[in-house]
Amino acid sequence: MSKRIVNFSAGPAAMPEAVLEEAKHQLVNYKESGMSIMEMSHRSKEYDAVHESAIHNIKQLLSIPDNYTVMFLQGGASHQFAMLPMNFAQGKSVDVINTGSWTKKAIGELKKGYQYQVIASSEDDNFLKLPDLSSVRFNDDAAYTYMCSNNTIFGTQFKSFPTQTPTPLVADMSSDILSRELNIADFGVIFAGAQKNIGPSGVTLVIIRNALLDQCPNDIPNFFNYKTHADANSLYNTPPTFGIYMANLVFKYLLDNGGLKAQEKRNIDKAKALYEAIDSSESFYCPVPAQDRSLMNVVFRQKDHDEAFEKQFIADAKAAGFDGIKGHRSVGGLRASIYNAQTLDNIERFASFMHEFNLVTNARS
Ligand SMILES: *Cc1c(COP(=O)(O)O)cnc(C)c1O
Repeated sequence: MSKRIVNFSAGPAAMPEAVLEEAKHQLVNYKESGMSIMEMSHRSKEYDAVHESAIHNIKQLLSIPDNYTVMFLQGGASHQFAMLPMNFAQGKSVDVINTGSWTKKAIGELKKGYQYQVIASSEDDNFLKLPDLSSVRFNDDAAYTYMCSNNTIFGTQFKSFPTQTPTPLVADMSSDILSRELNIADFGVIFAGAQKNIGPSGVTLVIIRNALLDQCPNDIPNFFNYKTHADANSLYNTPPTFGIYMANLVFKYLLDNGGLKAQEKRNIDKAKALYEAIDSSESFYCPVPAQDRSLMNVVFRQKDHDEAFEKQFIADAKAAGFDGIKGHRSVGGLRASIYNAQTLDNIERFASFMHEFNLVTNARS
């Protein structure tokens, strides 16, 4: 097999190698059907089994209660930014916790004719920390409370969630879904684009409390209505069948490897190894305070924000087989995304590389 590099891309991101191998094995002739799963009708019995298995497995992984519906939609997380207010914010204001670029994009959709109030924000800190939610005043008459659990670009992640919001809590979990156990009952809606922790891009996971489905208005286009997709079991139109198949291989892989409890422990160990390497480094630092640091997206910089130094580090890392560590184009710097599929072994190798780079560079100067 050709040598795979260590992929720290923020998304689409690395997948478990065992999952890719299984998909490869089944690609041309799926379970003796004589065709690939991607060539089959979405109404076929083979695809139906995949679809039902994916719903079953995600329910099991996340311990999703019976009063919730799981959907596989399209349009990415960005489509949810628009779909949520269309369904739930007519004539009501939305409470928003603003923690970075992705919440700002969601606010951008609210600006198109909806009311909203930012009830907490870390914009004054350039989003490099999280707002303290313990003192936030939630509005009793809001449509819902909106937040992003993990801020992919700034490297911050909520370690816990408000459990007493007076209105349904809606969370964008695109970059940390399946990274830890959750109490689903705390949320009205959870959504996540697949391409960070679930599978290929093109699938959006939506988990919604059933009582909310009754509130979806009839006068919006069918395709934008959650109820349409819930009633049709995500088969209103042709779903992204191959993406759902791949997502299900990832769900099974996680279930076979101890579920989310075990995955969370692996993620804690991985992040610890990388943050320790950065904190003890002579050249780099992490701008996020320890309690707010993401286990998924590790953001760091050269101590004096020396861009030539960072550029050299990116180039040398790439030559050594570590790809995707350039920070998001909007903030610069460096970022290693270490989603579920990233291994501790790879991170330890990267930490050694970082240490050697420090030694060599500092010897030169
Ligand atoms: C990647 C990402 C998005 C955007 O997802 P798309 O599927 O490209 O629309 C939204 N929110 C968060 C937190 C993300 O990480």
